[in-house]
Amino acid sequence: MPPGRRRKQHEAMIITEIFKSIQGESTYAGLPCSFIRTTGCNLRCVWCDTDYAFYGGKEMTIPEILDALQPHQCEFVEITGGEPLLQSEVPQLAEELIRAKHTVLIETGGALDVSVLPADVVKIMDIKCPESGMMQEMNWDNLKKLTPRDEIKFVINSRNDYDWAMKILYDHQLYRRNVVLFSPVYQTIPPHELAEWILQDNLPVRFQIQLHKVLWGETPGR
Ligand code: SF4
Repeated sequence: MPPGRRRKQHEAMIITEIFKSIQGESTYAGLPCSFIRTTGCNLRCVWCDTDYAFYGGKEMTIPEILDALQPHQCEFVEITGGEPLLQSEVPQLAEELIRAKHTVLIETGGALDVSVLPADVVKIMDIKCPESGMMQEMNWDNLKKLTPRDEIKFVINSRNDYDWAMKILYDHQLYRRNVVLFSPVYQTIPPHELAEWILQDNLPVRFQIQLHKVLWGETPGR
């Protein structure tokens, strides 16, 4: 560092929104939770429901983010996007939230290396199915980097996606170490169809629907 220049303690992150809601997904569904939505994504899933987070956003430092969470008084904090792992300060943010006694969840698309995150973070990692258009972007090494507290999510758009997800589930024996979530794409396949396929095949997965959308539809910040 050149003499006379002070190292900034925290670089700013780009944040689309910070809000309090009911956790809509994963085994934490139903719990009050603070959400930090980072800006930007390296993927373009055809059914993406948060494309408003691709651009824009506001620069915030970690202390500013912690201040914004304060009024929520939530034990659970989820960092989501966009793709949170695009921002180099996210591991540090997670570390500081853990130090402040929060349970930290991170939603990630599965294409970027998850091992940069502190071990205590609960990673909820997508495996992108063929009809997302992003299957080829998956970083399969990430499967070895998950811990038993992490969860794996397949967002399913059709019977073809379901059959592919079932093959991956068994080929990699995913259910032996992690909770595996099967979730229908919102308003694409009727949720009961996916539920019936899971029952017929007796799959060792957890069916989920996006609870926040049942409550509030596609309202941003929910
Ligand atoms: S990874 Fe998430 S935010 Fe990015 S395009 Fe896919 S659904 Fe949208």
